[in-house]
Amino acid sequence: MTIEYNEDYLMLSGIQHFRFCERQWALIHVEGQWNENRLTFEGRLIHERADDPFRVETLGERFVSRSVPVVSHRLKLYGVADVVEFIKSSEGGARIADREGLWTPYPIEYKHGQPKSDDCDLIQLCAQAMCLEEMLGVKVTEGAMYYYKIRRRLKIVFDSAVRAAVADAAERMRLSFLSGVTPKALYTKKCENCSLIDICLPKSARGDKAVEKYMEGIFER
Ligand code: SF4
Repeated sequence: MTIEYNEDYLMLSGIQHFRFCERQWALIHVEGQWNENRLTFEGRLIHERADDPFRVETLGERFVSRSVPVVSHRLKLYGVADVVEFIKSSEGGARIADREGLWTPYPIEYKHGQPKSDDCDLIQLCAQAMCLEEMLGVKVTEGAMYYYKIRRRLKIVFDSAVRAAVADAAERMRLSFLSGVTPKALYTKKCENCSLIDICLPKSARGDKAVEKYMEGIFER
């Protein structure tokens, strides 16, 4: 499957970075830096296993597509969904080429580790669902996250609050991208799990601020 998008569209996968830390997103997607740590490496291996575009499995009343290209012209986002299950439905589903009947898409995202306390993964999955809705003209009300550490699927419901959060993040990403300004570092606990900590140097950045203030004080005298 191929999709068309304009060159000013942003990568959907960036929405999880943006939600985690706007500076991290800007470093990766605006400045183009990427530093691989153990967490991102494990994540990539998992994606390599899940991403096989030629693999379509049929399991009775459902079939599974992998590495599905997705786009939303409303959100101006494009990307690839790890796995989309299509479930046969009597009404409300989409027509799919070479298949009889109607099919409701059910996106599944694979992640290393375990469920997080923030909503970054959920936002990314919901963005995929919103793309599929727009592309196929159907409602996608649910999907799932699969976490390798707990080896379990967790059902995710795409309610109006999470949809609004996706739309808000997509809009703010756009504005931030157009501004070209990388937000300043602010050290928090989550920095310890950030793949860019050695590039971002959030503790020294805070230190730099103190130096900056000190220097301003000298010149004001
Ligand atoms: S180290 Fe902290 S402030 Fe810097 S990009 Fe990562 S999460 Fe953001």
